[in-house]
This record gives sequence, structure tokens and C-alpha cells, in this order.
Amino acid sequence: MIRYKLKCKKCNNAFDSWFSSSKEYDKLKKIKKLNCHNCGSIKIEKTLMAPNVANSKNKSVFIEQDKKLIKIKNKIKEYQKFVKRNFDYVGDNFSHKARTLYYSDNKKLKGIYGKASSEEISELNNEGIETEVIPWFQDNEN
Ligand SMILES: [Zn+2]
Repeated sequence: MIRYKLKCKKCNNAFDSWFSSSKEYDKLKKIKKLNCHNCGSIKIEKTLMAPNVANSKNKSVFIEQDKKLIKIKNKIKEYQKFVKRNFDYVGDNFSHKARTLYYSDNKKLKGIYGKASSEEISELNNEGIETEVIPWFQDNEN
């Protein structure tokens, strides 16, 4: 027996269904015997399987998810590049440097980026110093 998570393309209803084999699923789909439990539509498709049945057989499912993750990571990395080009890295010294920058009259100073705890960030915000928190990937990560 094999369980598939199915989804109706028409009404978006998702439901589980048991089949004796993956071939049975294909067969029922082909002869249009697969119906939505909700609206009766035969526009049924398989959705992602539960992670606990992960194995080499359904690798494609996870590659698909990885692609999405890579997309998000790339977006963040683009943002990181932008930050690196336009801001000075100050590491753990962020909240100190942020204050220096904020109270400095030197308008030519670049913006900065670095690490800060959430307490430090809320302290800075209380002083009117605007910060932006973004997820950050290490450069050696892919
Ligand atoms: Zn439906």
C-alpha cells in the first residue's frame, strides 16, 4: 500500500488517498477514476509526500524544495553583496559603531553592518538609530 497526498487543482482541496501501488494511481488517473472528495473534479495531482517517507525514490521532491531554498538564498546573497559594497563591516562592534555614526557630524561616513544582539538592536532603536536585520549566510556556505 502506498499513500499519496493529493490535491484538487480546481478547488485546492488536499486529501490523502491509499493505493495498492504507484501503478494503481497512474491507472486510476488515466481512466479518470480519481475524483476530488470535495468538488468531484478529476483534475487531481500528487503533491509533496510527507518527509518521513523520504528515500532515493522520491528524490525529485526534495530537489524541487532545494531549488526554492537556493532561490531564496541567492536573493539574500545578492542583498549581502549590495550591503558589502555599500557598507563597512564592523563585526561585533556594531552597536558601538552605530552610535558613533549616528552622533557624528561627518556626513561622508558610510553605513555599517555587523553583528548585534537583539537587546543591542532594541537599545539602538530606542535611541532613534534605525537598524535593519537581515538573514545572513556565511560566505563559505553554498
Ligand atoms: Zn475539488
